[in-house]
Amino acid sequence: MDSQPDPRSLAAARFNDPDAAPAPLSAADDAARLRAAWRRTLGSALLVLAGAALAGFAIGRPAALLALAAVALLAWHYWRLHRVLGDLAGRQPEPGRGRDAWGELDRRLRRNQAQMRGRQRRLLDMLRAYRAATAALPDAVVVVDRNTQRILWFNRAATDLLGLQHPRDVGAPVAERLQPLPMAQWMASGRNAEPILDAPAPADERLRLTLRLIPYSDDYWLLVARDVSKLLHLEQMRRDFVANVSHELRTPLTVVHGYLDMLDGEEMPEWAPMLAEMQKQSQRMTQLVEDLLTLSRLESRESLPEETVAMAPVLATLRREAEAFSQGRHVIEVRDLAGCDLLGSTRELHSAFSNLATNAVRYTPSGGTITIEFSRSSDGGAVLAVHDTGYGIPAEHIPRLTERFYRVSSSRSRESGGTGLGLSIVKHVLGLHQARLSIRSSVGQGSVFACHFGPERVRPVHDQATHGATP
Ligand code: ADP
Repeated sequence: MDSQPDPRSLAAARFNDPDAAPAPLSAADDAARLRAAWRRTLGSALLVLAGAALAGFAIGRPAALLALAAVALLAWHYWRLHRVLGDLAGRQPEPGRGRDAWGELDRRLRRNQAQMRGRQRRLLDMLRAYRAATAALPDAVVVVDRNTQRILWFNRAATDLLGLQHPRDVGAPVAERLQPLPMAQWMASGRNAEPILDAPAPADERLRLTLRLIPYSDDYWLLVARDVSKLLHLEQMRRDFVANVSHELRTPLTVVHGYLDMLDGEEMPEWAPMLAEMQKQSQRMTQLVEDLLTLSRLESRESLPEETVAMAPVLATLRREAEAFSQGRHVIEVRDLAGCDLLGSTRELHSAFSNLATNAVRYTPSGGTITIEFSRSSDGGAVLAVHDTGYGIPAEHIPRLTERFYRVSSSRSRESGGTGLGLSIVKHVLGLHQARLSIRSSVGQGSVFACHFGPERVRPVHDQATHGATP
């Protein structure tokens, strides 16, 4: 499918066009030609008058013959004017042949007309080609008048995906025609409208669409809808596959892990190093499967059951876990400066915070300090930040840290039992709480991983007795 008219075919069309304008003269030739035409017109008028005067003197009636010649000249000019006007009105098939001023005027008018017609035809061809291209797009395209929010034009795919019918829906209000899509609120946000990533198609409930609003001019907006059903289906299949594989691996791993735990290295000293390694690896695999299952569970949910999360016990547990993981190699500090609780899922938030605290211990050499701080933010929200004085992260890795299995140093992560999924889980948990993760780090000095919660997630502390002092 051609989206652009072929310039060669346009050139060919122009070549065969009977209206095509003759090759233009240079400006100097054109001016010379015009001067010659004027000279010829003036010369012939003078010649006619001089001839009439001579003949008049010869027969002794110069005045009468001069008057006759003047009338004849006037009549001839009237006739030429008539021809040119007839030509303009499209009645004269032949171009004027004279080489005088009238002929020149005739030629110029014809040339301009031909140029204009050629230009119009080319523009029309181009317009048709662009329309054909847009009409043939597999995505639904709807042109909407911004002020009236009415439909001006739509392509064929808009009929299949959005259920718009030609000509019934041309001029119809877009919000009304595309129900049940939340068009009214969406259009109201105008240029700031975020794309709708997954919505059922009005024409067919089984189809899933992404919709995008493109304000391409002050008066017109383009609504583009794409069928993403297959993509979403593939994504769902991938998620199901990972969840199923993880689930299937869980039981055999538990059995292997259980038997390995029963084997005592002290009873078989020659096997002790191998047993220890096997136990470590089976522990890693179990953790990997658990993390994959957690991620699948989080991905399949759009929201979590909410409750008031008492932060004092959460912070106390985080401290205990960090101390247990550190085994005395780090200084662990916990500060509660917020004096509030959070609204969310205790289980998931604890798992996210715990991942950050464990990472801080994991990536901080012995003797370092880990500080877990819960405080209020200036917008009325709350922040849980985990500071460490560890290895730090080079800036180029920071944007990718929350991708699955993305590691700055794979060996360091594996040695310390990391799965590469921790920050992915944190990101998903925070997403389900409309919160965000910020990461600041400098190599050799340490990192700060902070979870930012909006004011709507902040709850007053219920039980002052259990809150207050750092646990
Ligand atoms: P892992 O299980 O490997 O720790 P995560 O998703 O939790 O996986 O973290 C991804 C990567 O981010 C880690 O492999 C590590 O390279 C880096 N990282 C995470 N937390 C820290 C930290 N506090 N200091 C330095 N690097 C970190």
